[in-house]
Amino acid sequence: MLSKKVTLPAVVVGAVLAVVAANVFALQEYKSGIVWPEPKVVAPGEKPGDPPADAVILFDGTDLSKWKGGENWEVKDGYAVVRKSDITTKDSFGDYQLHVEFATPEKVSGNGQGRGNSGVFLADRYEVQVLDSYGNKTYFDGQCAALYKQSPPMANVCRKPGEWQTYDIVFEAPRFGEDGKLLKPGIVTVIHNGVVVQNHFELQGGTYFDRPASYEKHPERQPIRLQNHGNPVKYRNIWLRELTPIVGKKPGEEKKGS
Ligand code: MG
Repeated sequence: MLSKKVTLPAVVVGAVLAVVAANVFALQEYKSGIVWPEPKVVAPGEKPGDPPADAVILFDGTDLSKWKGGENWEVKDGYAVVRKSDITTKDSFGDYQLHVEFATPEKVSGNGQGRGNSGVFLADRYEVQVLDSYGNKTYFDGQCAALYKQSPPMANVCRKPGEWQTYDIVFEAPRFGEDGKLLKPGIVTVIHNGVVVQNHFELQGGTYFDRPASYEKHPERQPIRLQNHGNPVKYRNIWLRELTPIVGKKPGEEKKGS
């Protein structure tokens, strides 16, 4: 009795194994042939929003020495407060991931564009709007997380006045030819408080209040500017990582390149 029970399944199992083995041996691993450099090992920040080990720290809560005009702002208790001028990074950057934390004033005053207005200017001329848009109506392409006068955010995810908020911005600088012709537009992705609100948006040019967007040739690497719009917006924990694409060598290229 026992031997019958064992024999029948064994035949079935054997057949199944044979089919599986045939398929396994028929599979061939796909290889692109591209020779990739090994990605750099980078220790991430301890908590979300913390700078990774190789980040450029632009403001860690202690001083604004990395910024032109930094002396015009107030620094206290680990944050900076917008005062009498814009501030601009002393260094310039090309393509990057930028982390910024901000809080619009807890004491609400003004309305529309006059309430908690500041801004993060990528390449010194493309503004990601900072505004208190919590229950504060204004034109949609001028509300918080808009690419000013070009693209409203896909959602309004503002926190209440006085609460800390995050921007994680991915920026690809535009490229221009020698003759000033635009070869590739600037590209911006904005994640506001963890929500994608601008997705790979193609900038139409500089963001202006009084005229349509237009491009003017500029070097690929430019500073970052934070706006003084007369409202005491707070900033903290500002850092960036420049983007360095991984470039592989296609078959044949590795010989030429080495
Ligand atoms: Mg602004």
